[in-house]
Parts: sequence; structure tokens; C-alpha cells
Amino acid sequence: MKDHRGRDLSGITPSGRLTLGNHLGALRRFVERQDEVEGYYFVSDLHALTLPQDPARLRETTLSTAATLIAAGLDPARSTVFVQSQVPTHVEMSYLLECTAYVGELSRMIQFKEKGGRPRTRASLFTYPCLMAADILLYDADRVPVGGDQSQHVELTRDLAIRFNATYGDTLVVPQIAPAALAARVTDLQDPRIKMSKSAPDDALGVVRVLDTPDAIALKIRRAVTDSDNVVTYDPAAKPGVSNLLDILAVLTRQDPQVVADSLRDYGSLKRAVTAAVVAELEPLRRRHDELMGDRAQLAALLAVGADKALRQSSAVLERAKKAVGLTAARLSR
Ligand code: ATP
Ligand code: MG
Repeated sequence: MKDHRGRDLSGITPSGRLTLGNHLGALRRFVERQDEVEGYYFVSDLHALTLPQDPARLRETTLSTAATLIAAGLDPARSTVFVQSQVPTHVEMSYLLECTAYVGELSRMIQFKEKGGRPRTRASLFTYPCLMAADILLYDADRVPVGGDQSQHVELTRDLAIRFNATYGDTLVVPQIAPAALAARVTDLQDPRIKMSKSAPDDALGVVRVLDTPDAIALKIRRAVTDSDNVVTYDPAAKPGVSNLLDILAVLTRQDPQVVADSLRDYGSLKRAVTAAVVAELEPLRRRHDELMGDRAQLAALLAVGADKALRQSSAVLERAKKAVGLTAARLSR
């Protein structure tokens, strides 16, 4: 097999409007690495269908998420930015991996244990880890940058690739889990014990959305839960709310949170500094997003370029896998 060092891949499910956590933990890091690696970034709309969705809203959230990836600085000319359902190889590869995975290991997946197991649970909530493994393995990705909440999926992907290779011969690249970098976990401003999540209710006050207006951002940060001593020190265990704000500011100003803490007098000045930094970061992004959403033909064209590139790349891996398991090759023109 070829050496595929330096290939990055990440999917974002359109399960809600993107958050500051998604931006700092994912988008911004992808943009920074874009010249070092060959990046594949996609909106995983098929994964959203494991839970009930309103079709019109799913379509809109998918496009808006894709526009946000591009607006954040992922350049369709340098990286491959696409919508998962526009690249049919994902579902095909997923089936081959369903034929590799065991019921036992899928039953142990956290999402299924938490949300599944009822008679009317969608079957896809059980099998989606195979689709996720397909998403990764189709691109011979060798490192998958994920936060802690995703590591179980990458572990399973590794197990499936190893088993596939052991059964059918060396076919799939076994990916590494890339370590989470600075500010890998932004917490909810109203409850700093939990992660900031896009699938929180749309109006959740503790969740800053990438596309929030400056006023909305200012309000949410002003209301952020802190504590009563009004002394700015960085101590994630004892002062989770204040430390979360310091983490956000530290990442945005490229400083150490400890150093940032020393430069601020009180919680008022901390919150004003965080607001200014977040607004400065997100305002240009929101404007570019709105431009892209205002020109749907251009957005569709950019995504078609991404889908073409992704299809070309992934078809080779899919064909390799189909051949390995004994399926006969078809010569279809797609
Ligand atoms: P959901 O609630 O639907 O799980 P989410 O906000 O957790 O949404 P994911 O789609 O699970 O987002 O993850 C997208 C990317 O954003 C992943 O790379 C993940 O590690 C990163 N990410 C998600 N939430 C945060 C957060 N609070 N802080 C830092 N990174 C995050
Ligand atoms: Mg998540």
C-alpha cells in the first residue's frame, strides 16, 4: 500500500447550528492545517437521519453547515469540502463494513446504548458506526482529529479495518487517532460541566452559535455562569466557568490562559474581552456565510467540485474493497 501520511478527514453532522465549540475545536484547526495536509471535510447529512428530521430543515442546515465550513476558511481549491449524501461510495462501503462488524460490538456503542434499544429506534442508529468507519476508510485517512466524544468510533474503525485486512488481505489503511489540541473542549456557558453542543435546543443561552449576531454573542457571554469571588484565575476544577472563558480567549489571542488571567482585573473585563475576541473572529465568517447562502448556484457549484473530488478518491478504495471480498467489478460510468 502507498504511504498516505498527512491526510486529514472530518465530518460534521447537521444536527443543529454550529457552535463556538465546533469552530475552535474543529473548523479553525482544520483551516490552520490546510496547507500541511490533504484535507477531506464533509457535512454528514446521512448521519443526521439516524434521528427524525424535518426534511426542509435538514436541507437548509446541511447547506448552511457547508457554507460555514467554506466561510471559516476551508478553501474548496485546496481541501475537499463536500456533502456526504452526494458521494454514493459512502453507503456502499458502509454495507461492506456492516458485513465485517459484529452485533456485539455495535451494541456497545455509547450512542446506541443512550438513544437506542427501543422498538421504534431507527435501525440506522445501530449500524451508523459502520457508515462512520466507511467515511474514514474510503479516503485512506491515516489520522482522524477528534475530540474525546468521538474516540470510540475511531477505535471501532480501526478494529474493522484490521479485521477486514486479516480476512481479505491488506486492503484498508488503519487510521490513527489524532490527539486533541488546545481548547479541544469548549463547555456550555450556562453549565460549564457539560460540553457546548450544536444539538442543544436552538435557543440555549449557554451555546454561542458561529452565526449568532454580535448582540446575541454579547448577551450570551454576559450571562455566562461564573462564581461569586470576582477574581480572575485559571483553575478549571475549582472555577470551570471562568476557566472556560479564559480558554476561549487564550485560543483566540494565541496566549496561555494563565497569562490571559493575569492581565484581567475582574469578571466584567474578562467578559468584555471574550466578547470582543469572539465577535472579531466570527463576524467575517458570518458575512461570508451569508454571501454564500445568498448565491445558491455558486454554493452548489463549489460543493459539486468537492463531491467530484471525493467520489474520484473514494471510488478507488471502494473498488479495492469490493474486489477483496469477492464482488465482481462493474464498469459503470458514473
Ligand atoms: P452534537 O451535539 O450533534 O454531537 P457537536 O457540537 O458535539 O454536536 P459533532 O458533530 O459531534 O458536534 O462534532 C463536530 C466537531 O466539533 C468534532 O471535531 C468535535 O470534536 C468538535 N466539537 C464538538 N463540540 C465541541 C466543543 N464543545 N469544543 C470543542 N470541539 C468540539
Ligand atoms: Mg458530538
